[in-house]
Parts: sequence; structure tokens; C-alpha cells
Amino acid sequence: MFGDGGTLERLQDVDQHLLHKLKDIGIGSISDLATTTPPELLEDYYSNYDDATRGIDFETISHLVLKAKQKLIEDGLIQRDFSSAEKMLERRQKMAKFSTGSESFDSFLGGGIETQALTEIAGEFGSGKSQLCYTLCVTANMSSKEDNGIIYVDTENSFKAERIHQIAESRGLDSEEILKRINICKIYYSAHLEAVIRSLARYIEQYRARLVIIDSIISLHRAEFAGRETLAERQQRLNALLHRLRRLSEIYNIAIVYTNQVQAQPDSFLGNGFDSMRAAGGNIMGHASTYRVFLRKMGHNRIATMLDSPYHAYSQVKFTIGEEGIQDLEKKDGKTLAGGSECGW
Ligand code: ADP
Ligand code: MG
Repeated sequence: MFGDGGTLERLQDVDQHLLHKLKDIGIGSISDLATTTPPELLEDYYSNYDDATRGIDFETISHLVLKAKQKLIEDGLIQRDFSSAEKMLERRQKMAKFSTGSESFDSFLGGGIETQALTEIAGEFGSGKSQLCYTLCVTANMSSKEDNGIIYVDTENSFKAERIHQIAESRGLDSEEILKRINICKIYYSAHLEAVIRSLARYIEQYRARLVIIDSIISLHRAEFAGRETLAERQQRLNALLHRLRRLSEIYNIAIVYTNQVQAQPDSFLGNGFDSMRAAGGNIMGHASTYRVFLRKMGHNRIATMLDSPYHAYSQVKFTIGEEGIQDLEKKDGKTLAGGSECGW
């Protein structure tokens, strides 16, 4: 599955000047080009080059993206547009599942965090979102020694390598080996996040990644596009990001996990504390994620609720956080809770 789509120069009969301009806006490889869409690319192009004197149009761009895609198909890196349902099933069977660190949490997810999917972890401050990301870095069991990279995009400047070290050691695992395979990218503003995600195909290939974590996906956009008048733009940008992530998760058979913040729900009136928060990012965020998991504190423990999923029934699970990261509650506390009965969700 993995390989190198190669540099743009591999594309024949293409205006070299145009390729240079594409490089300047972050499209540096055939994979970058093939995993974008013509409207996205055209928008990026015109927002970077006002004059656009070379008169690039939708057709030229579409042709270019198609050419790049064709190259990846020829190289066997991605699938053809049409494939039989049987082939699709075969592909689904290649899906891997990564452990959260807690057996109950894994079975709540139907086996773990899946590749070919976007998993959103929403929750308030301190609910365990980052702890889950760290634990995943340690427990994600890569079947191959080669394709075992992890990309960790940290937008909150909160990544703690020493915590990963601790989780690995307390699980009796080789922390050095684990830390080596984690590639961290610190991001400080939203345009930087967008640029990194635009080039993510290249990084996935370079680091042979099977798991990409973004902690958090929304904080920078939320801070920078704070006013009502910029809301539409923010949502549009987030939408582009999320769609790109979705394509990448499928094309490269990787798991993409991102955390999301919560916001108070002004129309909440039940006042029992459970319904007063919702995941940030509105419908765009809700529709993009394959799985939406909401974390909440419950005394010393945590509770996860599945908000949205194509396969899972609405359900909840309790877990806890310890030295080993995400863990099962002690047996006496039981396992998966039935459909929200305990919390009224
Ligand atoms: P957020 O959802 O804001 O990312 P975190 O994932 O950082 O929150 O969770 C922070 C919580 O994780 C702490 O409040 C604490 O309860 C728990 N935690 C962090 N480190 C440890 C540890 N070494 N042992 C036990 N619990 C821990
Ligand atoms: Mg955090």
C-alpha cells in the first residue's frame, strides 16, 4: 500500500511553470496532487496568486489532478474509481483496528479504532482526550515493522513525550521503540494546520504512518475565527480539512483520530449537566466524522458515549485513566453500560 508517489516532475506534458507554482502552495508530490480536489486546488491557487497571469482554469487543474491520480493507480498506490463490491469487501477486510488501552472501550468501539475512518473524540477540558491519544500511540499494534509510523499533530502545544514514556513503561513495552515511531508536528495557527494537512499524503508516505492523530482539530480555527461574521469562512475551511482527511484515511488505509472541544449548549433546559455540552464545530464536524465519541468525567472515572456511527448502536462505556493511560475500570464496576440508562443520555 505504501510507497512514494514521487515528485511532480514525474508527470509528463505538464507546464513546468505551473508545477513550480503548485509547489509554492504546498503541493510538492504526486500524492499531494492526487488527494486534493480541483475546486480546493483552484481556490488555494487563486488565494495565493491574485494576478494568476498564467490563466489557469478549472479544466487545466482537473486534468492535472486526474493525471496525478492515474499515476498513483498505475503505481498500485490507490484503487481505480470503479471496483467490484467484492473488491470493496476485500478492502474493508484489510482494515486494521488499534486498541484504546481498555478492553471495554475497544469492544464498545467494535474492536478498536479503525483504519479507513475518522474518529472524533470530543469532551471538555480534562476529560481524557489527550490521554486517549497518548495511549493509542503506545497500544496501537502495528502488524508490520515497516509501516508502523504515527503522525501526531499537536495544535494545543500539549504533547508530552514523558507521559508516553510512562504509559509504555507501565505496560511493560519498549518505550524507546515506541517514541521513535511517533512523528510530532507542532502547529501554532490555522493556516499552518491547513498547509500540513494539504501535504499530509507526503508525510504519511515518508513516515509510513498507519495512525494520524490531531489534538485538537478545531482549537486554532475556533480561536482565530471567533466572530459571527467569520463563522461561514471557518466552517468552510474546516469542511475542506475534514474532507481531505476522509479521503486520506481511505486511500492509505490509515486511522485518523482527532479531538474536538465542547461548547455550552444555550438551549439546554434539563439542567442535569449531561445535556448541557455539545461537540464544537456544528454540523460540518458532525457529518464528517465516521465515529463521534464524547468523553465525560464521572468522579475519578470517565464515561464515553457513541454519538454517531454507521454500525454501532447508541451506547456508553466507563473507563479510567491511570499510569498505564486509558484502562478498564476494576471488574467490580462492570463493563459496557447499556444504552445510556445510567446517565440519561
Ligand atoms: P483533555 O481532554 O483536556 O485533553 P487530558 O487527556 O489531558 O484532558 O486528561 C487529563 C486528565 O488525565 C487529568 O485530569 C488526570 O485525571 C488524568 N491523568 C493524566 N496523567 C495521569 C497519570 N499519570 N495518572 C493518572 N491519571 C492521569
Ligand atoms: Mg488535551
